Formats: sequence, C-alpha cells, structure tokens
Amino acid sequence: MSDFKIETKCVQGGYTPGNGEPRQIPIVQSTTFKYATSEDMGKLFDLEANGYFYTRLQNPTNDYVAAKIAELEGGTAAMLTSSGQAASFYAIFNIASCGDHVVSSSTIYGGTYNLFAVTMKRMGIDFTFVSPDCTEEELNAAFQPNTKAVFGETIANPALTVLDIEKFANAAHAHGVPLIIDNTFATPVGCRPFEWGADIVTHSTTKYMDGHGAAVGGCIVDSGKFDWMAHADKFPGLCTPDDSYHGVTYAERFGKEGAFITKATAQLMRDFGSIQSPQNAFYLNLGLESLHVRMKRHCENGLAVAKFLEASDKIEWVTYAGLENDKYHKLAEKYLPNGTCGVVSFGVKGGRKAAEEFMKKLKLIAIETHVADARSCCLHPASATHRQMNDAELEACGITNNLVRLSCGLENAEDLIADIKQALGE
Ligand SMILES: *Cc1c(COP(=O)(O)O)cnc(C)c1O
Repeated sequence: MSDFKIETKCVQGGYTPGNGEPRQIPIVQSTTFKYATSEDMGKLFDLEANGYFYTRLQNPTNDYVAAKIAELEGGTAAMLTSSGQAASFYAIFNIASCGDHVVSSSTIYGGTYNLFAVTMKRMGIDFTFVSPDCTEEELNAAFQPNTKAVFGETIANPALTVLDIEKFANAAHAHGVPLIIDNTFATPVGCRPFEWGADIVTHSTTKYMDGHGAAVGGCIVDSGKFDWMAHADKFPGLCTPDDSYHGVTYAERFGKEGAFITKATAQLMRDFGSIQSPQNAFYLNLGLESLHVRMKRHCENGLAVAKFLEASDKIEWVTYAGLENDKYHKLAEKYLPNGTCGVVSFGVKGGRKAAEEFMKKLKLIAIETHVADARSCCLHPASATHRQMNDAELEACGITNNLVRLSCGLENAEDLIADIKQALGE
C-alpha cells in the first residue's frame, strides 16, 4: 500500500483478503487461539514466531486496523490501545521509568496533563512543561541528563496552538531522545509528523478517526527511525535483555523498525492489559474508511464558522489556526496545508453569563464533553470540565470564563451558522 495516496490507504490499507476471504475485516471475537503442540505455542511466547495466543496482548482484528494507521502515518509498526490515555501512558512508560524525566509542551490535552503532572509524577517520572512558542534556547534548557523523551500535540486540545514539530524534533535529537507527537486533532490526513522529524505518534482514535462518537480507543505508531542502540545507555529497557521476557533484547532482535511496538506489546500490554476490544477496532476501521472525506468537511465547516465568529460583534476573540490573522496561521500553513481541524474556540462578549446564555439557546449544536464527532457539539469549560476553578485559576491555564469550545461536525455550514446566530441574538 505504500505507493498509494492517503485516500486509498484510508479505504484499503491494513487488510488485503485472499481468495474467498471476507471483504470486510473479520471481527475475531475470541480471547484465545488454538495450537497443536506446546512447542508451537512456546515459539510464540519466545517471540520466535508470529501469531496470536491471547487477546490481552494481540488480536488479528486490532492488527489489521493498527497496520492501516501505520500506513496512514508512514510508520513501520503500530498498536491499538483501549483509549487515547492508554496510548499516551504507554508511549512514555515504554522508554521512561522511575527517576527519568520528560520534556512536554504545556498546551496539551487536560487528561494528558493530569496523567503526566500528577499520576506519572507519582510513579517517579518528572515532567518539565515548556510553552510551544518557546525559543530554541528555552527548549534546550529544559533537558536534563535523565531526559528520555519530548512530547507535544500537533494541534493542541483545547488551546488550538500549532506545534513547530521541526523545532521540537531537532531539540529532541540533539539530546539523543525521541519526539512523541499526539496527532489526534490533525489526523494523518492533515499532518504526518514523521515527515517533520517526529519518531513516535499517538492518537486518541475516539476523536476524528472514529468520528462518530461510537468507541473510545487509542493508537501508537512507530516511525522506525529512532536508533535506540546508538543511545543504548539512555534506553536500557530496549537495549538490554528483558528478564521478564526470556532475556530478549528488543532493539537487537527487532531492529529500529519493530523494537518499540514489540516491547510495548510484549511487556506493557501483557502487564497493564489496556487492549482495544476487537469490536471497537472494527468500528474504528469503519471510521478510517471515510477519514479523508470527513476531515475535508470538518475543516471547511470549522473555517466557515470561525470566519463568521470573527466578523460578529457579539464575539470578543476567536482562535482558529485556519484564520489568516491567527497567531498560529504561519505554522498551520507549513504543517497543515490542507486545513487544520473542525474545532474553534471563542469568547462571547459579556463574560461567563453571556457564554452560558449563548449555549443554552443553541438548538442544533449540543452541549457535550466531546469533540471531533460527525455531530456538532460545544462545551463551556468554565462551567463543565474546569468548574472547580475560579476566574483567576482559569486564567492561569489559559481559559477565560467566556471561552466556548465548538467542534464543527459534518452538517451544512449555513445551518450551523444560523444556529449560532440565533443563539447570539443576531
Ligand atoms: C481526547 C484526547 C486524548 C485522550 O483520549 P481518550 O480516548 O479520551 O482517552 C488524548 N489526546 C488528545 C489530543 C485528545 O483530544
């Protein structure tokens, strides 16, 4: 599939049925797999043969879909996880453990921030958060001798900042560590971070990849480019024998192309078990088949709504990198030439009360804790996800009390604008 364009990979990547086999990917609804001899099964446990033995580690349905996402991103290997949170956790924990350190962009998804700053900190992994707009000097100053990775989001949720991936990749590589990019909002249709130097990509497939609000899921993709053995002292988990897995040295046995995902499967999935169900992988694949068609429409609707809001005198400010005078427009032109995403943030004039009133009056656009769905939805963080914070605390994390996050779905843009108009009382 590697010679085909991304649209073709969306539809047909990952699975090529043989003669007389199902056209659609089969859902292998089985926890386990049968073998004729214990020797056969032993080879699987020793990672000497390819195959399946227990769905907590691997399942054929998941692997078809993971292979499709690897093709979309231009990577060498991928795995599905039960959620985007599990993908972020595994991507970091696969190479960093107690006593290690990670540099992360500060504008990341709130759930990821909590995972890093609270839960993983409790596991002994320290994070330094840097502004995505920091200078190269500031970025380089964030590294420590025990730094094991750099992390950022292509388009941040909900701040909608666009990451200068090359700047972050150069700094990571200068310090001998990989760059991990959460590419959820851009999707590989909008941006392929590996082409700009990223080494590992993660996704919350719950968002645009599924696209229909049907199934929570995540994915990790390896570019196969990071040379673990060249930095063996930093990555003992990949470059020295794994006693818990028959003494295998992942980077030696599976090379740059396969070591990261094999270790994450054989070790982390075995021990933590956050596998995606094959049924959910099937739904995810249905979403992927139309990802390229849907992303175009999400971006068109996002831009049309952002332009309307920008021109409205009931609106204080709009953040959308597709707008020409947005702070991140230049970076968006470079990294997201075909459009950014369907999510727009804006402030309603009149503060918290005006934002609440506006949302109450919406008829077509629903209030939901979700984004990137076929159906348009919106959220007022000050009275939902961040309601425990006062105005000063909100300001500190870049959220004003009148901020509305609007995820433009696949409806007709004129209908969306008409709904916004009537809710603003225009
Ligand atoms: C939603 C989201 C996540 C977390 O994914 P879940 O599937 O909800 O666990 C991670 N990163 C980004 C950018 C997200 O939008």
